[in-house]
Amino acid sequence: MSTKLRMFTRMMSSSTRVPQVCIVGAGPAGFYAAMRLTKKLANVHVDIIEKLPVPFGLIRYGVAPDHPEVKNVINQFTKVAQQDNVNFYGNITVGKDVTLPQLRQNYDAVLLTYGAEEDKELGIQNEDARNVIAARNFVGWYNGLPSDKDLQVDLSNDTAAVLGQGNVALDVARILLSPIDKLKKTDITQHALDALAESKIRNLYLIGRRGPLQVAFTIKELREQLKMKDCSTIWRESDFAGVADVVANLPRPRKRLTELMLKSLEENKLKKEDTNSKRLYPIFLRSPNKFITDKDNVVKGIELFENRLYGKGNVEEQKCVSTNEMELLDCGLALRSIGYKSVSIDEELELLPQGMVNNDKGRIWDAHPRLAKMYAAGWLGTGPVGVILHTMGNAFQVANMMYEDLSKLPRSRARGGFEEIKRILRNEIVDWEGWSKIDRYEIEQGKKMGKPREKICDIGKMMEIAYS
Ligand code: FAD
Ligand code: NAP
Repeated sequence: MSTKLRMFTRMMSSSTRVPQVCIVGAGPAGFYAAMRLTKKLANVHVDIIEKLPVPFGLIRYGVAPDHPEVKNVINQFTKVAQQDNVNFYGNITVGKDVTLPQLRQNYDAVLLTYGAEEDKELGIQNEDARNVIAARNFVGWYNGLPSDKDLQVDLSNDTAAVLGQGNVALDVARILLSPIDKLKKTDITQHALDALAESKIRNLYLIGRRGPLQVAFTIKELREQLKMKDCSTIWRESDFAGVADVVANLPRPRKRLTELMLKSLEENKLKKEDTNSKRLYPIFLRSPNKFITDKDNVVKGIELFENRLYGKGNVEEQKCVSTNEMELLDCGLALRSIGYKSVSIDEELELLPQGMVNNDKGRIWDAHPRLAKMYAAGWLGTGPVGVILHTMGNAFQVANMMYEDLSKLPRSRARGGFEEIKRILRNEIVDWEGWSKIDRYEIEQGKKMGKPREKICDIGKMMEIAYS
């Protein structure tokens, strides 16, 4: 019997009943909620169930490889998982290997933190053409997500376009334009590194449907792009008409971001000669109408509509409307980066058009009050926006509410917890010890290549190592 199981059995046999909590998804929301719950309730047992054999969600598979400092939160999460009253069970897909009603029958509370697994689509002609790629898949490819390891990315054309102007768009632009020597020292997957080393991309368009006052990326990420070695950022002066006039009245983060764009635009004008070999071209007020393809159905351009802004008041809330003016932009790779969306894993869950599950401040409406209470946190509950800090705040808030509910739990209704779930499962489970073996193996492989880690991208191989 493992130490954790012994501890759990001891707790179960004591006079106070231990509330059983199941968290679905081992990303930041799941870990932060487990952290808060176990801090507030000494007497609680938390099982974190994860689809992949490995934990950490978008910290591992989203955060850019050249931002290692962001991934330090993993150390905090590791401490949470090592607590006696917390278990990690990887390689279990809720909705497939075990159902939501089965979890609800065997736990006092079920917290869903399974994130946003799909991306939004433009819904335009030829979106399925070759080399029109979702940024989500491209990110998964360079970060080693098993389902994206075989993505076909052709980097042989000198021009690419990214549709969308959020931080994910800037991440993928930066990875495509970064000097390869910089990427070599990161945990980017070797297959991506090899492909990027051969990349011919020199020009990258970053296309936004609204104006400079509405960009969704943030100042730190833009500053990083502006400082990139061997890469110039070229703004179109016409896009900035009237912007300087309103900048003084903008709220502070937006003001500083806009000032930085205006400063960069002025610096470009003063530059006599551009000796850099790569260029990023932000383009504003353009919406894609359709992708143009060649005879082999490979993208070779994008037809863009010119847009106008309308709406008074807060500039960030201004909307855009397309005019009849059209522009054709040549490119051999197009990345759609217009946001993520959640999926439903059970008919009990209603998805809202904003790409999140219907909930009230984290509480999911209970159609079956006799079953465990159900909650949502993180991107699944808030929609697919916000940095880790926002996700943390939301997970803490939902965990506080769960604590209130669990404190009032009737003593009589003991739940089976994972012991019961194990009887249902047909697949092999990866526990924290199994993940630790994968972790050590990846770090060792990385060392040989001068990288912090070389991720295993194959589930079979992960399982082999976890069970070695
Ligand atoms: P996720 O991190 O997506 O975790 C969800 C987990 O649930 C995953 O492990 C998934 O495998 C699992 N899961 C899914 N379906 C199931 C199922 N059916 N059963 C069981 N488990 C399941 N924020 C920053 O602060 N800094 C950054 O640099 C940064 N970079 C980012 C880069 C990208 C490309 C993206 C998309 C986001 C980035 N963010 C960044 C935002 C940050 O990643 C999110 O705020 C955070 O990850 C959301 O956490 P979450 O737990 O809700 O979802
Ligand atoms: P996002 O910030 O919501 O940006 C989405 C972009 O797509 C916006 O420019 C949006 O324009 C555009 N868009 C949406 N629908 C469109 C359509 N139909 N046609 C054309 N353009 C469209 O989403 P994200 O970039 O996926 O990022 C998600 C979250 O993760 C954000 O909170 C982000 O800050 C965070 N993140 C952080 C980091 C970091 O801290 N380094 C890195 C990556 C991600 P409109 O504004 O006009 O809608």
